[in-house]
Amino acid sequence: MLENLREEVWKANLALPRNNLVVETTGNVSGLDKESGLVIIKPSGVNYSTLKKEDLVIVDLEGKIVEGKKKPSVDTSHHLYLYQNLKDVGGVIHTHSPYATMFALLEQPIPVYSTAHADIFGVKIPCTPYVDNQADHIGKAILRCREEGCPAILLGKHGLFTFDETPAKALRASIMLEYVAMIAKGALELASVLGVNLSAMPSEEVEIWYARHHGGGYGQDE
Ligand SMILES: [Zn+2]
Repeated sequence: MLENLREEVWKANLALPRNNLVVETTGNVSGLDKESGLVIIKPSGVNYSTLKKEDLVIVDLEGKIVEGKKKPSVDTSHHLYLYQNLKDVGGVIHTHSPYATMFALLEQPIPVYSTAHADIFGVKIPCTPYVDNQADHIGKAILRCREEGCPAILLGKHGLFTFDETPAKALRASIMLEYVAMIAKGALELASVLGVNLSAMPSEEVEIWYARHHGGGYGQDE
């Protein structure tokens, strides 16, 4: 079980640079094994190009290292806080992916401008006020500000977290958040150049798109 999770967490970490969500050694993915209560997370300061599966660190929910020769990510405590406080979360990702972080720097949520955003998230992507990285400040800010059911949140002046049932699902939320932020930024700039307004989608319409995407019928039956 733990080896399957290690593979999934490793692959999700490697997908971050491939999708232009991280630079250098920033960013990290973790996964929770619900049965044992153990968390597998990227080691601190290791470049993705040299990251091996065995480099991943296993910690318990209190942050004690259970297995691994390297130090876990400096963001481990924030990941653990989310696992401790959000039921059903089994994968957490933190990045400073550029387009989403532009909104975070301005401490602005991303309204639902597009059907792609409505499909995946169904609500605006909220943004926390700036908090420092001490103790549980980041975790608490996320819990206070998150939208129920939305697997993504912007962190003021900082970056973003995504969290979902599995690391693979959290990765999808990270990729889609960056795409949604990119087209929102472009549309806002175009609107300003053209002297027109960019409006958010009406919430009834957002609900219809979200329900179609999540209520079955989308994709292939397994
Ligand atoms: Zn960060």
